[in-house]
This record gives sequence, structure tokens and C-alpha cells, in this order.
Amino acid sequence: MSKKSAAQGDAGPKITVLGAGPAGIAAAYALTKGDARVEVLERAPVAGGNSTSFQIDGIWCDYGSHRFHPVADPAVIADVKSLLGDDLLLQPRHGRIRLGGKWIHFPLKPVDALLRLPKRFAASLLADMLMKPFRGKRTGARSFSSVLYDGLGRTISESFYFPYVRKLWGLDPDKLAVTLAERRVSSGSVGKILGKMMRMLPGMRGATTGRFYYPREGFGQISQSMVDAATGQGAAFRFGADVARIERDDMQVTGVVTLEDGKEIHHRADQVFSTIPLTTVVRLMDPPPPAEVKKAADSIRFRGMILLYLILKTDRFTEYDAHYFPELTIPISRMSEPKNYSSATEPEGRTILCAELPCDPGEKWWSMSDEELGEYFCRWLGELGLPVTVPVDRCETRRLAHAYPVYDLDYQRHFDTVDKWLLGLDGFLSFGRQGLFAHDNTHHAFAMAYAAVDSLSPDGRIDRPRWAAHRHEFESHRVED
Ligand SMILES: Cc1cc2nc3c(=O)[nH]c(=O)nc-3n(C[C@H](O)[C@H](O)[C@H](O)COP(=O)(O)OP(=O)(O)OC[C@H]3O[C@@H](n4cnc5c(N)ncnc54)[C@H](O)[C@@H]3O)c2cc1C
Repeated sequence: MSKKSAAQGDAGPKITVLGAGPAGIAAAYALTKGDARVEVLERAPVAGGNSTSFQIDGIWCDYGSHRFHPVADPAVIADVKSLLGDDLLLQPRHGRIRLGGKWIHFPLKPVDALLRLPKRFAASLLADMLMKPFRGKRTGARSFSSVLYDGLGRTISESFYFPYVRKLWGLDPDKLAVTLAERRVSSGSVGKILGKMMRMLPGMRGATTGRFYYPREGFGQISQSMVDAATGQGAAFRFGADVARIERDDMQVTGVVTLEDGKEIHHRADQVFSTIPLTTVVRLMDPPPPAEVKKAADSIRFRGMILLYLILKTDRFTEYDAHYFPELTIPISRMSEPKNYSSATEPEGRTILCAELPCDPGEKWWSMSDEELGEYFCRWLGELGLPVTVPVDRCETRRLAHAYPVYDLDYQRHFDTVDKWLLGLDGFLSFGRQGLFAHDNTHHAFAMAYAAVDSLSPDGRIDRPRWAAHRHEFESHRVED
């Protein structure tokens, strides 16, 4: 966007951003480099959305394992580096995955995998790779399961990906769309997995291979530093501002109404940049959209998650940052030890284990007390051969209603209906993980926000062809774990 907006005279367009997760924050940060007047409305009391951090007993914790991946767009990395300075650490990845009852380093390393993978498993994997050219392709409708079978073969599909996605999404792999494989499985063949492993060898490694960026004060420090910078550039953040209505006159969005301390507040806007869930947007539209759009939005589902924080009276539980559990014998998908993400040694005599339990409101775990969930957590660790033998102080939990988009077989049709209608609105743009129903990383949310700002014309309107081109680019986003 130009420094001065011709149509607006000296005052730039008034942009109201909905949501202060990474997408909303990055939009505010980029907008305030121009002449826009920016207001950010966030329901929560703090910034960062699913990428925020908070302290428990003096330890910085995230909503599950969060790493800033070096594959991010260089412009995004440059911003994060300049905002955080020395507080941004480049850490070696040091995790473990449980495969065939054995612990293997994750990300996979050639020598470790060779020594530790059960022999029968390794032989079967090799056979899948050699037989690939002769394997008959699955017939019928394509799904996550058929794409994985065709690309990776039976062994890795059935022992790793299928149970893992069943756990994460609560659906069988043949009930999940191809999109999930495209977004989530970056190595679509055993050969590519081996290639990735070879790049972990000394001499073949780049400066950031097998590493991740992590701020000293938790992943949320990235969002917080951007909020501070955007505020310094003139953005106004309103926390505790629950968007309750999005007002429109025919197909022109004119403003939004928030509920703050029980009071309704009206916010007029030239443009509304929305990063809240697109399903919420449809529900809050006033007047409501056509029935078929509402019906489509009602059919779109997000997967929830409970984060369990087990507070232990010891310096450290393991040397690992994260443990990955694809097996279905326990319902948690991953466990991280937050102190190990920043190599923190303080506070002494205390550490925390964070388990990710994918589940939806209404499932039995959702209404369980922290104490009960803590007991289950200890039991699961015992079953995995990681018994908790140190004193447990307590378990705390946090619940996310919008952890993952659910790409079931019908999602694309429903998403397209909602997306098409939202794209037809003037003065409104939906983006970010929740706004575009995108299974993505934080750096993708930043990239989308920068693209949204890039699509704002000097007259304060959205350049639609430019936005369409950016939307096309977003299709290449691949999730890093
Ligand atoms: C378990 C887990 C692990 C992850 N690990 C990683 C990782 O290692 N690396 C990585 O890069 N990414 C990771 N991610 C993804 C990352 O969390 C998201 O990509 C990122 O938070 C998306 O940002 P966003 O702003 O698009 O959405 P969100 O972070 O979801 O932000 C949306 C914001 O909108 C607000 N909002 C919603 N409704 C309203 C309303 N009515 N009124 C006002 N405000 C509202 C919410 O409170 C929230 O703050 C992980 C995600 C999960 C769930």
C-alpha cells in the first residue's frame, strides 16, 4: 500500500482487524508501516491466539509444541529476527518418536534409524520403496488414505500416518480429504523421506537443518514483540473485545459491534480484515447470509484440543524437547517439555510436561477435571515406559476449540460456498488459519497477513486480482511439525 491514500486525503483508511493471533497482529504491523488507521479487536485478554505463551510456576508454556521453522519466507524471518534480536534462539531439534515400540530420534537421522528401527519394519519399508513402480494404484475416490498408500506404501502409512491422523482428527484416513496429505505430508515417497534423512548427515546439513527458532520467553514472544512494534507505529489493540456482530449494507461491510464488559461498542471501518474462524464470521453477519451459506458454514468443523500441563518437582524430566506418539494405544499425540525449548535451567526443582490431547467438546475428556486428566497423563507415560517417579505437584489444563481444521471428504464443497460468498463482500477480507480454514504454521499466517496488506490499493479498496494471485500462492504452504 502507498504511504498516503489518495482517496482518504491525509488520513488513511480505517482498517479494523478481527483477532490478535499471528495473522491479525502481522496485518496490524504491516498496515501501520503505511498510512492506515488500525484497530485490532481481540476477544482474549492477551495477544497471540493459538500461538500465545503464558507462565506456570515461572516456566514459559505454549499451547502444545510450537517452533518457528527456518523454512519461513525470508522476509518473515527477517522481521522476526529484527523484532526479537538476541532473544531469538536457534535450537537443535531433539525429539523422539515411538515406532514399532521403539524410540527413534525425530526428525529421523540415518544412523539412529538404522540402529533402532525394528529390523522387520525397516525391511518392510525398503520393500515398499523398491516395489513402488510395480504397485497397483488405488482405484475409486481419492482420499488421504489412497494417496498415502500410493506414495508411501503400506508400512509407513499403517504404522505411522494412519493412527496419527485418526488420533488428531478423530476420523479414519479414508474419511479424510487428499488436501490433508498435500498440506501435511511433505515427503510423499519413501525416497523423499530418505533424502531428508541424508540431509541430516554432517557435511550435508545447511546452517538451519534440524534446527528451529525459539524465543527465550516462549513462542508467544514473537506475537508480543510484533504487538509492541505495531502499537509503537500507531495501531490500537483492544483486548476483551468480543466481536458480536459484523454489519453490512447489502454486500458492503460497514463495521463491527463488539461486546466489551457487557457493553456494545460500534466500530466503523473502511475495511474489515478478519482472522477469526470463517464459521464464526457467517454466524455474526448482520443481516445473515443466504441459507445455503449458513448451511455450508454449519457443516465445516474444527478439531479441538486439551493441553495438559503436568507440573513436576524436579529440574528436568527428559533431555528431549518433544515426544511424538502415533500409536493409538494412548490418546495423546505429542508431549513436550517447555523448559527444553529454550534450554532454560530456571526455575530449579520444577519442570512441566505438556501433553496434546486432540478431542472435541462433548467427548469424555472435555468435561474431566484437571486432577483426573493428570492421573490419566501419568498412567499413559507409565505405559510408554516413561514412568513418573518424581513428585507431581498438580495438573493444569487449557482447552482450544479451534486447534485444527477438519478436512473431511465434503469440506471443500462447504468451504467453497462460504469462501465464494465472503469474497463477494466489499470492505471485508478473511485470512489466517481460522479465516481460510488452513492447516498451517505461524509463518504462513504471517505470510497471509503480509499478502492481505499488499492487496490493499492506494484508494483503500482490495485489489481482487492481486488477492486471488496471493491465494494461489498459499496453496503451496506445507505444514512443518
Ligand atoms: C497444537 C498446535 C501446535 C502447533 N505448532 C506449531 C509450530 O510448531 N509452529 C508453527 O509455526 N505453528 C504451529 N501451530 C499453528 C499456529 O498455532 C497457528 O498457525 C497460528 O496460531 C495461526 O494464527 P492465526 O492468527 O491465523 O489464528 P489464531 O492463532 O487462532 O488466532 C485467531 C484469534 O482470533 C480471536 N477470535 C476468535 N473469535 C473472536 C471473536 N468473536 N472476537 C474477537 N476475537 C476472536 C482468537 O481469540 C484468536 O486470538 C500449532 C497449532 C497447534 C494447535
